[in-house]
Amino acid sequence: MGSPILHYDIPLKPERGGFGRWQATVDYVVWSGCFSEDDPPLTIWELHDAGALRIPEKDDLMHVIRGGTPNHIEHLFGYWRICDADMIYFRTRQQGEVYYLLVTGGRPGNYGRDALLWVCPKCACQFNRHDFDTGIARWKRFWDAELGLARAFNDDERLRTCPECGHVHPPAYGFYPSEDNPTESEARSRW
Ligand SMILES: [Zn+2]
Repeated sequence: MGSPILHYDIPLKPERGGFGRWQATVDYVVWSGCFSEDDPPLTIWELHDAGALRIPEKDDLMHVIRGGTPNHIEHLFGYWRICDADMIYFRTRQQGEVYYLLVTGGRPGNYGRDALLWVCPKCACQFNRHDFDTGIARWKRFWDAELGLARAFNDDERLRTCPECGHVHPPAYGFYPSEDNPTESEARSRW
């Protein structure tokens, strides 16, 4: 049986503005955000054998991004991510505000690796991939690296050039809008 877990309540509306920080609670890594309903929706893309799939938007939605599936969330992070554990996405609209929750992790040992990469918008080739040994003990490794990798990508056109078709990928951005430079802020508004 054991004791109830009483120390991991996470408010859906983060303190100090609507954009929370990733945080770990027990065996889960969690992010929450609260946006105006006028803000563009944070829409999920997944990459499958048939190509990139945009998950249809709904006001109230729970969607499971299966572990191992490359995914991108529009306006939230300007790259693609692969987590070996399932990522659960919640969206709900309440009184003019839209709440989002992302949760990954689960049973101990369920979550161990992350990857950051880009997918060519022309031919869906995966390229410029970076792998991370993470899991619940080292989950911050990914978040400590992602903005620097996005900036390196933006700074070097060779890194943005698709190795298959030669298309030059548009600029990237990191996760936290408060850290965006003007290039990244512009990129965030686009994809
Ligand atoms: Zn390509």
